[in-house]
Amino acid sequence: MIEIKSLHKSYKTGSTSLHVLKGIDFSVKEGEMVSIMGSSGSGKSTLLNILGILDEADEGTYTLDGVLIKNLNEKIAARYRNKFLGFIFQSFNLINYKTALDNVAMPLYYQGMKRNERMDRAMHYLEKVGLADWATHLPNELSGGQKQRVAIARALASDPKVLLADEPTGALDSKTSYEVMEIIQSINDEGKTILIVTHEEDIAHMTKRIVHLKDGLIINDTPVQQIKAKAEAHV
Ligand code: ADP
Ligand code: MG
Repeated sequence: MIEIKSLHKSYKTGSTSLHVLKGIDFSVKEGEMVSIMGSSGSGKSTLLNILGILDEADEGTYTLDGVLIKNLNEKIAARYRNKFLGFIFQSFNLINYKTALDNVAMPLYYQGMKRNERMDRAMHYLEKVGLADWATHLPNELSGGQKQRVAIARALASDPKVLLADEPTGALDSKTSYEVMEIIQSINDEGKTILIVTHEEDIAHMTKRIVHLKDGLIINDTPVQQIKAKAEAHV
């Protein structure tokens, strides 16, 4: 589903250049649930932004669902993002003056879907995240966990190939974090490919594979099952 090879990215500010990604190779198969871990500043968001076609690498290749993502103009990039990707952010990024239902329906409006169909579909995804009763509420009437569930419903509404989440539990307490992760797990159980950036070990352990970034390189890429088996063997 995702294939990247020898990916490099630097940020240039004035005369200085910061080499953030220094040759990343990695791939994600359809249906996987992968976490990207690493300390703050290790390049996790940079990598996710490139995967999300929000930014472009300087070198290397990125193929998404068989399509080479390279030199896209903003219009085509936006089309690919709509077609392939769903985004979940730490800060939810909901529109404050729109109801939960309207927030979920929003991306479908931009896809040109008719109002009735849009609303039906948005309601379906709100039900999926357990928020049918909150459809007419505004974001400021919802708890953090509820807001993130609305954001998950919104990300799912366009039935993307891949769900990308940058620190989806970063603004939530641990109990709520686990609840949100359980919803994300259930979405993966239905076959959705999911990538989650986190710096929290326990959150990463709720995915199926952990990719560890350090100093611009992947230093570890291990199935969670294997990590757990190893931990048990040492008990
Ligand atoms: P993480 O998400 O792992 O915390 P980031 O990918 O956000 O790390 O950032 C990696 C490094 O790149 C950091 O040192 C950060 O300050 C720098 N950086 C990120 N975005 C930019 C930018 N737009 N311009 C300049 N430097 C940036
Ligand atoms: Mg980040």
